[in-house]
Amino acid sequence: MKLVIATNNTHKLSEFSTILGEKVELLSMADIGCHDDIPETADTLEGNALQKARYIYERYGVDVFADDTGLEVKVLNGRPGVFTARYAYPDRHDTEANTTKLLAEMEGAADRSARFRTVIALILGGKEYVFEGIVNGTITTERRGTDGFGYDPVFSPEDTGKTFAELGVEQKNRMSHRARAVQKLCDFILSL
Ligand code: IMP
Repeated sequence: MKLVIATNNTHKLSEFSTILGEKVELLSMADIGCHDDIPETADTLEGNALQKARYIYERYGVDVFADDTGLEVKVLNGRPGVFTARYAYPDRHDTEANTTKLLAEMEGAADRSARFRTVIALILGGKEYVFEGIVNGTITTERRGTDGFGYDPVFSPEDTGKTFAELGVEQKNRMSHRARAVQKLCDFILSL
C-alpha cells in the first residue's frame, strides 16, 4: 500500500517509516510534488491533523495521513497542547526556547506529570479515520540526553527513569506517542 504523509519534517518521516516498516510504502510530500507549507490553524490536535490530511487529499486525490502532537502538562492545565510547537513564540518553532520556557514555567512544581498525545488523521478511499497515541510521563527539572528532537531532553516516559533523549531513537520508537498512534493506524490498515 502507498500512503502519503502530510509533513515536510524529515525527523518525522524517518520515525514514521521505521515504525511502519515494510507494510506501507511511505511517500513524502516532495514525492508527490507538493512543497507547500500546509496551514495548521485549528484549535485541537484532531482539527489540525484533519486539516493537513484534507489539504493533500483535496489537491492530489491520494490516500494520505497527517499527524499532530501536543505536550499536555497537568499543572499547566493541558498546555502547551495544540501550541506545543509555537509555545515560546507564536510565529516560529524554536525548540531551545520552548524547552527553556517549559522548565521556567514548571520551576518548583511538585506535580510534574505530563503526556505526549499524537493524533493521526487518515483519509483512505475518501473516508476519514482518526487514531490517537498517548505516552504518560514527567517533565524533568533539567535537560538530559542528546538523542531525538523537540522536548525529548526534558520528557521522561513513565517507568524508564530516563528522558526520551537518553533512551535513544530505537527504544523511543517502540514506546512513543507516535509509535502508539501509528500502531493503531497499522492495525487498522492490516484489518482491511
Ligand atoms: P508536531 O505536531 O509533530 O509537529 O509536534 C508539535 C511539537 O511537539 C513540536 O514542537 C515538536 O518539537 C514537539 N514534539 C512532537 N513529538 C515529539 C517527540 O517525540 N519528542 C519531543 N518533542 C516532540
